[in-house]
Amino acid sequence: MDIVRLLPDSVANQIAAGEVIQRPASCLKELVENSLDAGATFVQVIVRDAGRTLLQVVDDGQGMSETDARMAFERHATSKISEAADLFSLHTMGFRGEALASICAVANVEVQTRREEDELGTLLEISGSQVIRQEPVQCAKGTNMRVKNLFYNVPARRRFLKTDQTEMRNIMQEFFRIVLVNPQVRFLLTHNDEILWDLKAGTDKQRIEAVFGKGARNPYSRQLIDIRSDSELVHIHGFVGVPENASRNPQQYFFVNRRFMRHPYFHKAVMTAYQGLLRNDTNPSYFIYFDIAPEAIDVNIHPTKTEIKFADEQLIFPILLATVREALGKFNVVPSIDFDTVGKVEMPVLNSNSVIPSASDFLKRNPLYNPFHDSSRSVHEWQRETPDRNWQTLYSSAVPQPQVPVETTADSLFEGDYKDSVAGTPYQTAGRYIVQPLTQGLMLIDQHRAHALLLFDQCLKRLKEHNGEVQQLLFPEIWDVGLEDEPLVRESFGCFRDMGFDIEPLTRGSYNVAGVPALLGSQNALTALQQILDDIRETDGMAAEERDNRMAWAMAESAAIPYGRKLSEEEMTDMVARLFQRTGFRITPPGKTAAVLLDSGTIGNFFQ
Ligand code: ADP
Ligand code: MG
Repeated sequence: MDIVRLLPDSVANQIAAGEVIQRPASCLKELVENSLDAGATFVQVIVRDAGRTLLQVVDDGQGMSETDARMAFERHATSKISEAADLFSLHTMGFRGEALASICAVANVEVQTRREEDELGTLLEISGSQVIRQEPVQCAKGTNMRVKNLFYNVPARRRFLKTDQTEMRNIMQEFFRIVLVNPQVRFLLTHNDEILWDLKAGTDKQRIEAVFGKGARNPYSRQLIDIRSDSELVHIHGFVGVPENASRNPQQYFFVNRRFMRHPYFHKAVMTAYQGLLRNDTNPSYFIYFDIAPEAIDVNIHPTKTEIKFADEQLIFPILLATVREALGKFNVVPSIDFDTVGKVEMPVLNSNSVIPSASDFLKRNPLYNPFHDSSRSVHEWQRETPDRNWQTLYSSAVPQPQVPVETTADSLFEGDYKDSVAGTPYQTAGRYIVQPLTQGLMLIDQHRAHALLLFDQCLKRLKEHNGEVQQLLFPEIWDVGLEDEPLVRESFGCFRDMGFDIEPLTRGSYNVAGVPALLGSQNALTALQQILDDIRETDGMAAEERDNRMAWAMAESAAIPYGRKLSEEEMTDMVARLFQRTGFRITPPGKTAAVLLDSGTIGNFFQ
């Protein structure tokens, strides 16, 4: 007996759906992209229960005929390409003809659609790939797509969904990726009858401001620098953030031909342009739009992947780097570098975590330059010169690498009381390290991390005992968290209070801050709150214990001595003594090195 048979379409579609529609956010993305492909100028998105019960997209695009509406839900049914060659000249977001077929396999779908030229539109209801109803209907021009009860017939998928808060965050993420690159379209998004975003049509910059400028303490427009570069190969335009506003939670977006993409290699080009300009642990925001001939890129990869291959990425890297660098230079953040001095520079570039160097430091240290000042240099040479020219790559051949510090190395020497091994007074170097001579070696301490480690214990204790010591503010401040973060703040409200923040909700999205943890001292309360928020953003679904740890660490980091602060001998001695009393002081909770012990053996290795 033959046993091979074709799967029924409904089953095949359900399997395919697993690839394309993984969560409400991916469904939303497909629907909105279809609206844009249909030339919509206004797209309304209606979400209920983070998309679990309803995802509805209403557009004023070209609509579909009766036959097309029916066809659209078949697998590999598309109006956008007709032959393989079209794949290389794509001008639409969709082209696979898989989305609607996938969606209707795992949800109850109801669509109403009408073309301008038709008097009556079509109503079509499909559930689990079965057509339930199709009839003429009076409706507005365009398409109104209602997707109800997503995954109603795939319990495994349903269970796989995260909390509403997380699913909503995913939806917002997809939404941002689309609206940022379609500023000419008006978007309205509601969740459970509440308007979250009403974005008017405008320019790229107006759209960025409308999305991210809310509640910002200084206008977003003043934080962005225009970039532009036009060459035969590629047009690049967009905005990069001023280094002072770099944060731990930057907005970083690349788009190519009006499509969001991830591109680690180009990201590196941008980061290289900022080298030496950023404060510790911060990263710049950027919104960079590439326009390139469609045949020079390949989007024909996995439907949910956002990586896009460029034929000439090796050539684009230096263009992008130079464009960003030039823009930062015009903004007076990068002193222009005399090409002639470059070859003679011997100083290593400090890593990007270093304190913002002064202009003269930068001149000495930065061996990077604009490649286009000398056209005789090939792209190939460029690549060798630019990325990651840091301490390690410059010196790795000459200097034996010290052992990576883990809590176990070199312990034998310091057995017993660490106090007894202290020999002499500590001193500070490079504005960030404490050097403590020991009887049998040296200890190097990162002042900020080590101090944070000490504060961490106190913060955690306060948090657990719900008794953060509050210091009332003379002038209460208003904390604008923005609508996107509102649910997160509401959820963590108790923890903020436990740590010693005296905060009360004012209106949706803003809080009155009347007191701060005494530990924070004179630090800016709003900056600290924002930093803590950034750090706990990803804690959804984490165990309470781990969440407390994160929160305490975020708080400790905000309060800890910054880099660049000069320390007195007394302060340093005190810090060393307290570190020695702590069990484990070399690694911070997130796993960064706080202190390194160099015993005489390790030091000896340097002199072999
Ligand atoms: P693709 O977008 O890859 O072509 P989809 O399954 O997303 O595949 O859509 C199938 C077809 O349905 C599209 O090619 C388009 O012709 C039609 N369609 C889908 N959504 C809309 C819409 N909102 N307005 C007009 N036509 C649409
Ligand atoms: Mg599509």
